[in-house]
Amino acid sequence: MTSRDFESSRVAFDRHLAHTSSEPIGIVVDRASGPWVFATDGTRYLDLISGIGVANIGHTHAEVVDTVARQNARHHHVMVYGEYVQEEQALYAAELAAVLPSGFDSIFFVNSGTEGIEGALKLARKATGRSGFVAFEGGYHGDTLGALSVGGIEKYRAPFEPLLQPVALLPFGDVNALDAINESVAAVVVEPVQGEAGVRVPRSDFLPALEKRCRHVGALLIADEVMTGFGRTGRLFAVQRWDVVPDIIVLAKALGGGYPLGALAASSSLLRAFTENPPLSHVTTFGGHPVSCAAGRASLRVILRDRLAERADEVGVRFRERLVDAFRDLSTVREVRGLGLLIGIEFEDATITRRFVERCREHGLLLGWTLAHDRIIRLCPPLNTPEEMLDEAAATMKGVLAQEL
Ligand code: PMP
Repeated sequence: MTSRDFESSRVAFDRHLAHTSSEPIGIVVDRASGPWVFATDGTRYLDLISGIGVANIGHTHAEVVDTVARQNARHHHVMVYGEYVQEEQALYAAELAAVLPSGFDSIFFVNSGTEGIEGALKLARKATGRSGFVAFEGGYHGDTLGALSVGGIEKYRAPFEPLLQPVALLPFGDVNALDAINESVAAVVVEPVQGEAGVRVPRSDFLPALEKRCRHVGALLIADEVMTGFGRTGRLFAVQRWDVVPDIIVLAKALGGGYPLGALAASSSLLRAFTENPPLSHVTTFGGHPVSCAAGRASLRVILRDRLAERADEVGVRFRERLVDAFRDLSTVREVRGLGLLIGIEFEDATITRRFVERCREHGLLLGWTLAHDRIIRLCPPLNTPEEMLDEAAATMKGVLAQEL
């Protein structure tokens, strides 16, 4: 492309792309590779947010690129989901079933995390015959009306009321509050570690107590592993850290290896609810797109072969220590927390947080915000980012904070 083309893409972005914020980051992307994003002005950024938790094996991994090229040459979309046998889709389902907790032998592919949550909510109502949902304050599950209804961030809910009912929001991490889950509840939706709420890791007894309470009252437990799945928190799936076995696991982001893909995983007996009374009670045209499934399969192969979940666990501990060390004498940073390579940094002040993110970008580091808080940033680098780069990033952040912000 010529520089004029890039210029016109910037103009088109400003004029014609519908925006989600008044100050979009606006990096004009040339290409991305491994942990790097390259802009057309020649700037190279270390991507510490992985496109918000997508590029767990880094960007445009060679094995994904090759697999996608082969699938591109074979076929694209041929039929709505669930009718034809498409090799990449069927084999990916089998491979996911093999690595998910036992009993998760059936995968319903969709296009995104939000759509996975929608499917899970519908499945819970249909399978239990109950209508109620319980979710948690600070939780984020997507922006469609159903997913937003179980979202726990008030400012995003308020403009769109009335939402789906009945939904009860409980404090995240509070075992005593779980008694409110009763026999009217079809399902409880939970992020094992809350991402948008500012990377909140629950007390170790919370998720086991939640599982127990759900079993006791016959409510289904839906684990939203959209952000936490595929090694991010140091286990392939975060629920495995607490030996919790939910009824439905929702996946997306890293599931597609850089391509759009979501899924709900459950037992085949539970997912059968979509095939009867009436048949086709939940369908999707593009869900489980063969190219996305090919990319996802290649990505999962890399995660397993290179032991990236284990690596995230080990490297995450060291990176968090490095950050705590770097910020030790700085009163502007209140806390560094997280699990694996899902890390939150909480600041004292919103203006400093914003300037910190901008200044880091000027120094070639991409870090991200969280929806619920303007004082908390999130780091979720590719799980195979070399440790020296993470060390360097910690040093750069320290340098940025040492200057006037
Ligand atoms: N659940 C969680 C925990 C998420 O972090 C997100 C996206 N940030 C979603 C659901 C929605 O996923 P998607 O954007 O793929 O629809």
